[in-house]
Parts: sequence; C-alpha cells; structure tokens
Amino acid sequence: MTTIKAPNLCIRPGCNFPRRPDTRANSRYRFRLDCSAECSVWALRAKWADRNDDKAEAAELMRLLALLDARRSPRDRVTDVFARGENAA
Ligand SMILES: [Zn+2]
Repeated sequence: MTTIKAPNLCIRPGCNFPRRPDTRANSRYRFRLDCSAECSVWALRAKWADRNDDKAEAAELMRLLALLDARRSPRDRVTDVFARGENAA
C-alpha cells in the first residue's frame, strides 16, 4: 500500500497557508482541513452556494476570496466572511 503524501495546505482553493494543528481531544487527525476559521467558513459557504445555485452568494464569495488572498497571515481576520450578505446593505 502506497502512502500519498498530500501537500499539507489549506482546503480553500488558492490558499497557501498551512493547515492548523487539530487541538481537539481524541482527534484521529493531526491537522484540520483549513488554516483558519475564515477558510473553513468560506469553503462551507462555497459548497452551499454551489448546491443552491446561488449567484448572489457566489459573487459575494468571489469578493471575499480577494480579501482572503490578500491576507499576510492565517491569523488576519476577515470578519465579512462570517457576515451574511443580505445584512450588508
Ligand atoms: Zn486557508
């Protein structure tokens, strides 16, 4: 059986930050799938936008993607990711 050595990078496409260590007790995994809460939420919203064919959400996600890509560190906060689009206006 061969072991595929996947690069230990964040789940979000385009994100080059390393995954954060999984600090949950009794976890079978050493690392989570994402580098930060922002990427975790973004990936989740992207999944639902795709599933619901939500064009407005998709556009908002593209805007947030630019903000996420502009981060210098996974600890930089992008609070817009956690806000729902309809509350913005
Ligand atoms: Zn990330």
